[in-house]
Amino acid sequence: MSPSALVTNIGELVTNDPSLGDGSPLGLLLDAALVIDGALIGWVGSRADAPAADSVLDVDGAAVIPGFVDSHSHLVFAGDRAEEFAARMAGRPYSAGGIRSTVEATRQAPDATLAANVARLMSELARQGTTTVEIKSGYGLTVADEARSLAIAAAFTAETTFLGAHVVPTEYADDPASYVDLVTGPMLTAATPHAKWIDVFCERGAFDADQARAILAAGIAVGLQPRVHANQLGPGPGVTVACEAGAAAADHCAHLTDADVANLRDAAVIATLLPGVEFSTRSPYPDARRLLDAGVTVALATDCNPGSCYTSSIPLCIALAVREMRMTPAEALWAATAGGAAALRRDDVGRLSVGGSADFAVLAAPSYVHLAYRPGVPLVSATYHRGRRTA
Ligand SMILES: [Zn+2]
Repeated sequence: MSPSALVTNIGELVTNDPSLGDGSPLGLLLDAALVIDGALIGWVGSRADAPAADSVLDVDGAAVIPGFVDSHSHLVFAGDRAEEFAARMAGRPYSAGGIRSTVEATRQAPDATLAANVARLMSELARQGTTTVEIKSGYGLTVADEARSLAIAAAFTAETTFLGAHVVPTEYADDPASYVDLVTGPMLTAATPHAKWIDVFCERGAFDADQARAILAAGIAVGLQPRVHANQLGPGPGVTVACEAGAAAADHCAHLTDADVANLRDAAVIATLLPGVEFSTRSPYPDARRLLDAGVTVALATDCNPGSCYTSSIPLCIALAVREMRMTPAEALWAATAGGAAALRRDDVGRLSVGGSADFAVLAAPSYVHLAYRPGVPLVSATYHRGRRTA
């Protein structure tokens, strides 16, 4: 028998289980309790009905929410690009080419430096309530550097993504077709043992539709699951390619046609919105309302990376989604928890119901609404992952 713990005196519990509580998608329970049974949720319900457990944690009326599921990040890198950010804020536009400066720094960094940087960022994520994170490669762009980036990421998460197709590296600038051959050949072979997903930056200045199709098909052929950086900087074929490939998610979605929106809905591809990017690049936000009103499932994630968005904060993304993208606080919270889980094809996280992973955050607030209502305030007072406190 693994030890059990009763978490009680929860003022507002978000379960994301519509069969519980108020019947909304958030499955909201007031004056609630839950039982951690080892790494899993053993019981959820009204405080008055709570069973006995080996230990008791009284949260004194606080809100408890599922741990955030950050389905899009780029944590394996060296150096930073603060000067590029300052230049951008002084008026220079963002383009995909800035990635190459991080590639140079990453290639030169020892494994221990890269791993320490991921550990530092994982700690930041935990302190802000994140319990599941997807981590991409994509700053190595050689066979050896992509493989070691993924091996380092795999030490921190099961959700690892091979993104050799992040940008064409400088040494292949005159011969992108040969780089695609490398990505779909030896680099894929070296990456596959450490990766669950394959991703491609399908954008002007990165990879076109045919290149993206070839890259995803090669990954699918060796058992990786597809996801796509799509329609970030302008209209383009990214969403089409994602839907054709059966991708779990199309990420960014800042420039969509009506056909793109219908395609996402009909193909049941999750639209992952990353409003920290638009905030940090001073760009127009995606039209979340258009997607939600059309019946597309929306996820929110950070895109934490040293160039276009160097935040690890899902609470910031929730605040931006509510204030700048007109999502309701309930829609934004769902998108950052259950939505992120859907974008990673996980049903054991992003919810707090019996049998799910005991991944949750205790807020220094009476309601999840405070995440958007009190932007910039560190409201996560404790984070639990698989029943253990991580922050
Ligand atoms: Zn990204």
